[in-house]
Amino acid sequence: MNSDDNYQQLSSIQHFAFCRRQWALIHIEQQWAENLRTVEGELLHEKVHDVFADDKRRGVITVRAMAISSKALRVSGQCDVVEFIPDEDGITLNGHKGKFKVYPVEYKHGEPKEDQVDILQLVAQAICLEEMLCCKIDEGAIFYEKIRRRQRVEITDLLRKQVSDMFAEMNELMNRHYTPRVKPSKCCNACSLKNLCLPKLLRNKSVSAYISQYIADEGG
Ligand code: SF4
Repeated sequence: MNSDDNYQQLSSIQHFAFCRRQWALIHIEQQWAENLRTVEGELLHEKVHDVFADDKRRGVITVRAMAISSKALRVSGQCDVVEFIPDEDGITLNGHKGKFKVYPVEYKHGEPKEDQVDILQLVAQAICLEEMLCCKIDEGAIFYEKIRRRQRVEITDLLRKQVSDMFAEMNELMNRHYTPRVKPSKCCNACSLKNLCLPKLLRNKSVSAYISQYIADEGG
């Protein structure tokens, strides 16, 4: 079978990079998926109110909310913004003169994070666009609303492999319908599913107390 139903959601790489168990609870067991979808839907609506509006300035063609997918990764989703920038080494586009470089831009409400979660999502988008448009993408950007600036991201082979390995692992877990066991980490404190994931443990103590105890036990 090769229907879109079996494809991973591109944005789910954020949950997977945060915690594999959280990803499985949401995407395999569908726990709280409704709530998350509602929130994500609202945010998306806010961001892409001008879906499919093309905006041509200084020769740059801007396409918003572009649907994307990759057979190689078995993933589908969308790009907040794809810019087609005039470039002699680029690709041709139907209905437009000249050649263009493909440049994905992801929009985030917050500020740059210490982890790589946002970067991995952008790299996954670049891989999809490369497959769909037969092009090579060396760079993209993440626009952070809080600082109102773009952070440039080099799409390296190392990042491509990381993303490809992650989706391979997701597909494998999804096929086996397997939810990884609890592995407490600092992430648990910020996890929106902690009450669902650790209900018995939380009845008696806080997540941070549980993690401290777990680390102490592991260290002997
Ligand atoms: S509470 Fe911790 S282990 Fe459980 S899903 Fe959240 S981050 Fe993962």
